[in-house]
Amino acid sequence: MDSFSHKARKRFGQNFLSDPGIIQRIVSSIAPQSNDNLVEIGPGKGAITALLLEACPKLNVVELDRDLIPILLAQFAIYQDFKIHQADALKFDFSSLVPHDEPALRIVGNLPYNISTPLIFHLLSYHGKVKDMHFMLQKEVVERMAAEPGQKSYGRLGIMVQYYCQVENLFLVPPECFQPKPKVDSAIVRLNPYKALPHPAKDVKLLERVVNVAFQQRRKTLRNGLKQLANAEQLDALSTDITLRAENLSVAEFVALSDELLALGVKV
Ligand code: SAH
Repeated sequence: MDSFSHKARKRFGQNFLSDPGIIQRIVSSIAPQSNDNLVEIGPGKGAITALLLEACPKLNVVELDRDLIPILLAQFAIYQDFKIHQADALKFDFSSLVPHDEPALRIVGNLPYNISTPLIFHLLSYHGKVKDMHFMLQKEVVERMAAEPGQKSYGRLGIMVQYYCQVENLFLVPPECFQPKPKVDSAIVRLNPYKALPHPAKDVKLLERVVNVAFQQRRKTLRNGLKQLANAEQLDALSTDITLRAENLSVAEFVALSDELLALGVKV
């Protein structure tokens, strides 16, 4: 199958970049270097891949759609260190790309939007082995990642991403830059995982659970959601003001709340 006869598939979230100016701008933001340990998720027909390879000929890509593999292989046959992993990025073991002394991973991708949140959570689990990540996502998802307390888009995604990473919302990409055009606006985000977490939780699973229950009813008080995890006595013993709403607590305050609950005997 050649590049022209491959029809974009909705179920794989395929919107291929077609605007050379935007592709160049994305790759300039990534600034790939020849000795980077770079991996691209969802290379598609290679729009970003081609420029990445020019700068960094050793490149791993993870692509789910089998029909795209021969297209990529033919297009980039001259690159001996170009490696295609035909796999689901949600299940792919990214630590296998950092076996021992290799430099930390740089992850890039125009991600399939239908799996972006679970994929981000999967990638966060490798934060210790990752140098940085650059993603194209639906604009609203990038806004949620970068949101601060009090903002409408502030919630579980932003808190857990900001727990591990510094977040930069870089620039917007309109639907006209893709073929076929998506129905939504897109944006490029940069995530820099912290070398040392600024607010490490004693039990990150409990933190995730606390954030989860707190935002299940974002209009209600924290006390309301936390009832699922703790009894009245434990809730009364907290120093965190749980008459607030979840959207008013910073990442550091959520960590403090989670650590307090742990000390009071609350388990995941
Ligand atoms: N990077 C290309 C394609 C973006 S479309 C471009 O910018 O033009 C998203 C790509 O992710 C498609 O190639 C799609 O097949 C791939 N994809 C979808 N789900 C995936 C998954 N679970 N794991 C890996 N790749 C996936």
